[in-house]
Amino acid sequence: MPPTDTDCVFCKIVAGLIHCHKLLENEHVLAFLDIGPLSPGHCLVIPKGHWATLDAMPAEVAGACGSVLPTLAKAARSAVNAKAFNVLQNNGPGSGQAVHHVHFHIIPIDGERKLHFQWTPGQLDPTQAAHLCQAITRQL
Ligand code: AMP
Ligand code: ZN
Repeated sequence: MPPTDTDCVFCKIVAGLIHCHKLLENEHVLAFLDIGPLSPGHCLVIPKGHWATLDAMPAEVAGACGSVLPTLAKAARSAVNAKAFNVLQNNGPGSGQAVHHVHFHIIPIDGERKLHFQWTPGQLDPTQAAHLCQAITRQL
């Protein structure tokens, strides 16, 4: 049995205690319409088990979530005639995550972009890059 959290709104949806507008379901994954959509067709893909952040969940379940993204993005985008879409996935404090159960947003863009974030690129310093490569690969 995957982990569950009785206080979690998405676990309550998985358990059938809270209604959702279901789009797709399989052994590991549930997808439904976001209740506070940024644009028509905004939907969420969640694992059925409760993991707060992506890096806490098993690769197999993350893979199951990832494998439905192309199909659902294509369907949502076609259904609302959107030219583009964003996929967003927030993790932990400071990221904007409000529901602490892993979820992937699919947000169709129906003309006006609805998802705005500040993106201020720096420049990768070669010495720092070498250090970061070592530090990250050591953790793999
Ligand atoms: P995040 O800020 O990435 O944690 O996003 C959480 C999302 O969950 C928001 O877009 C909410 O509108 C959505 N949400 C919260 N409760 C529900 C619910 N009961 N059914 C569908 N979507 C929900
Ligand atoms: Zn949960």
